[in-house]
Amino acid sequence: MNEFDLIREYFTWPIKDSSVELGVGDDAALFSLEQDYQLVTTTDTLIEGVHFSASTTAKDIAHKSLAVNLSDIAAMGAKAKYFTLAITLPKIDKSWLKEFSNSLRKLSERYEVSLIGGDTTRGSLTITITMIGIVESSKALTRSGARLGDGVYVSGTIGDAGFCFWKLSNGLIPSNQELKKLNRPTPRIELGLELKNLASACIDISDGLEQDLSHILKASSVGAVIEVEKIPISELLHVHIKDTNDWSIPLCSGDDYELCFTVPEDNEEALKMISESCNVKITKIGVISESLGLQIEGFDGPRKSYQHF
Ligand code: ADP
Ligand code: MG
Repeated sequence: MNEFDLIREYFTWPIKDSSVELGVGDDAALFSLEQDYQLVTTTDTLIEGVHFSASTTAKDIAHKSLAVNLSDIAAMGAKAKYFTLAITLPKIDKSWLKEFSNSLRKLSERYEVSLIGGDTTRGSLTITITMIGIVESSKALTRSGARLGDGVYVSGTIGDAGFCFWKLSNGLIPSNQELKKLNRPTPRIELGLELKNLASACIDISDGLEQDLSHILKASSVGAVIEVEKIPISELLHVHIKDTNDWSIPLCSGDDYELCFTVPEDNEEALKMISESCNVKITKIGVISESLGLQIEGFDGPRKSYQHF
């Protein structure tokens, strides 16, 4: 099997989106644009040994590669449409490729995103996906719109992926449910689309709540006060925190891919309806303040945010 057979076999499937005029197979892809929309684009790379371990399944690697990119599009309040896949493989392993391809296709169909091209090379296992989305002109959610008095919110529960990683690192065996939180995050696409009309700023939590919320504060030139007791956490993590009195996992661990966003007071009622319609828990954890920086009430113990370098 050569490179071109591989692309045809595992990364070429019928595209349902009629805006794609030319997908995989030519020198580049072509798609048509809708008027009064802006394009939104993002890229994320996953590297074996850095973002996932050698024991992670092809199914989970494919899911996460796509989900983390969808999550960035969600945080912009945009609709995800097209993606490219640059994959570097150590060798051609047909069963691995089949599992990867099936998982990628399944998630792409769930979120109606089309694989329109990519690149295939040989080397250490690395997956780079570039996602392209669309949003009505000047409606995108950015990090810079938070204003004094806005509520600070998060979706879902925080720290589950980090708690699972902590268990694995400490020789404990996480449940399948916990592993799913680490390996198969749910991108909050539907929520992001609704928040576009209500939120003043938004970010997805990839590097930890403290660090990612701080990005909103810096970009918006405001501060915030949050209370650790208000951070929504799962039952098991609650027990761990009660035992250790250590809130560093929900504050600093990454990989949850929940949304952190700010909402003006006037929109708080409408926000409750969205929580129901999107079937996602939404929790207010604090408020935007004037004094710069993030003030965390209820915990001042040691903690360290994820840094690549
Ligand atoms: P070129 O040499 O012109 O860059 P390639 O041989 O790299 O073309 O790719 C041939 C076609 O296959 C292109 O349309 C490219 O976008 C697509 N392609 C290559 N690798 C992948 C992949 N992993 N997934 C999807 N499409 C791919
Ligand atoms: Mg190429």
